[in-house]
Parts: sequence; structure tokens; C-alpha cells
Amino acid sequence: MSDYKPKKIESKWQKKWDDDKLYSVRENPAMEKRYILEMFPYPSGDLHMGHVRNYSIGDVVARYYSMKGFNVLHPIGWDAFGLPAENAAIKNKTHPKTWTYKNIKRQEEQMRQLGLSYDWDRTVVTCDPDYYRWGQWLFLKFYEKGLVYRDKSNVNWCPSCQTVLANEQVHGEGECWRCGSVVEQRRLAQWFFRITDYADRLLADLDLLDGWQDRVKVMQSNWIGKSRGTEVVFRLDKTDESITVFTTRPDTLFGATFFLLAPEHPVVDRLIDGTSYEQGVKKVRQTVASRTMVDRASGEMEKEGAFTGQYALNPVNGEKIPIWVADYVMMEYGTGAVMAVP
Ligand SMILES: [Zn+2]
Repeated sequence: MSDYKPKKIESKWQKKWDDDKLYSVRENPAMEKRYILEMFPYPSGDLHMGHVRNYSIGDVVARYYSMKGFNVLHPIGWDAFGLPAENAAIKNKTHPKTWTYKNIKRQEEQMRQLGLSYDWDRTVVTCDPDYYRWGQWLFLKFYEKGLVYRDKSNVNWCPSCQTVLANEQVHGEGECWRCGSVVEQRRLAQWFFRITDYADRLLADLDLLDGWQDRVKVMQSNWIGKSRGTEVVFRLDKTDESITVFTTRPDTLFGATFFLLAPEHPVVDRLIDGTSYEQGVKKVRQTVASRTMVDRASGEMEKEGAFTGQYALNPVNGEKIPIWVADYVMMEYGTGAVMAVP
């Protein structure tokens, strides 16, 4: 391969693909359609290997459907708003707009070098007015229908980034994921979407997701929120303890076969102290402490769990149900306890 000069030969073909508009899509009602979209990158600098991995996967899917004869729309864009860009611009002593568009240009060059099959006539940049006007239009529609409202609530606030953080962006012992500052709680007025109006439908449709991991479904239902449900109290075998579980499906109680607790659940210590199960459970807890909530829920990591050696009693039939701790059950959502019905 000593004759292979990538800079020369690749730029020649990249230009040809570009001139021929190889990946531009034309509407064609006779063909079956496929829409392939990967998560937009943040224009924060050069692409890194994580981008290459992510966008290669999407490219494979797009090419697979093209080769199967589908009319594939495979666009790309940039998620280009927010304080990270502003802070980076301040640090680099430049205007956020200059900084952002410079990075977008650079990332586009790199994506073209990678030969990703995007329709370059259909890119979007979320900080362009002709893109965000549609976000504003949607917001107004929600507002007219009474689906957004203003209220105060506690938020995670990073004093150095001067921004609100999602729970998933608070790492370790309450530090900002971006700069490591200690995150504060602030009570701020903000806009809320009334997604609870749709909770029943969203929860019901989780059952239609074929092949999704349980942990992801559990997380989704926690995020959708409790609409209507029941708290069920399970007494524990051989102790005076009891544990409360929230369930939207109390009708499935008869089928409960095991019981899952968040490793941080306050009852766990009392269950395992001085028993031979103590070590196994503490190991799960250690692993969990080094992970973010998103990691724990993502489904990408191995599930970790351990038996506590204790049993709960099913309140409807008195059956003994083994109690486990599992990394994907979290104190922050629900009661930190889940009954499992296979
Ligand atoms: Zn920060």
C-alpha cells in the first residue's frame, strides 16, 4: 500500500461525491422512505473518536437502507446553543458566534473527510434564526393550549458556569460535570411543560417497545412520572421492617417474584449488617457511587445486583419474595423500591 496517498486520493473522490451531490435526496413517492438521524454534535472543537464511533454507526444504518432500495434521508446539524459555547468563547477571547460557526465549519470538513453519507443541502444549526423560530412557534402553540406554565422549583445551579444543570450533569459528590465546582440548590422561576397530561398514554406505550431492556423502561416510567398508582406496603420476613413500593399496576401484585431496592435505600444496611451478604451488596454500592444516574440508566453498562439474604412478604398471598439491590433502581425516582413482575 506504499502508493496510497490518502490526502491526494481521498480529496479527489470527496470532491467528486460533492460535485455529484451523491447523498442529496430527491422526493420520490414511488420509493419507500427511511429517515435516519443521529444526535447532533455540539460545535465545541474538533471531532473526537466518540463522534467517529457514533456517526459511523448511523452511517452504516443509512447505507444499509440505501442498498436495500429505500429513499434514505440522512441529514445532520449542530446543537449550537447554550452557555458552554459562551464560556468557551470568553475563555478564547472571541465572540460566541465566531467561535461556534468556526467550529461548525471545522466539524463539517472532518465529517466530509470521514465520508459520512449526509445530505449536505439539508443541514441545520440550532442557533440560526430560521431554525429556532420553529422552536418558538411550537412553544407558543403549547402556551395557547395551556401546556406550558411558569412556576418556581429547586434547580441544580453551578455558580461558576452560571447555569442550571440537569440531575445527570451533577457528578460525584454533587459537582458540576463541566468544571467540577460544588453545585448549589437554587429556587428559580422557570417554564414547565405539562407532560403529566400525557402520562397515561406515554406509560401505556412503553409496553409497545419490543426488545427494550427492563432498566430502560423503568427509567422511562420514572421520568414520565407517576400518574395514577398505588403505594403498596410489603412487610419483611423475620423483622419488623416494611418497605413501600409505588406501582401503577397493583393488579400485577400476584405475579411479583422478586423485589429490587436502590443500593442507597436506607433500609439496606439493616438488612445486611453482619450477614454473609454484606460484602456483595456493598460491592454493588461502591460501583454505583462512581457512576452518574445516566450511566446507571443507559442500558449500556452491565446490570449489577446482589441478593440481600432477606425476603419480603407478598401482601396478597403471603409468599416470600427475595430482596435484591440493583444499580438501575434509584432513590431519586419513585420510592427507591420496585417489585418485579416478569
Ligand atoms: Zn460548572
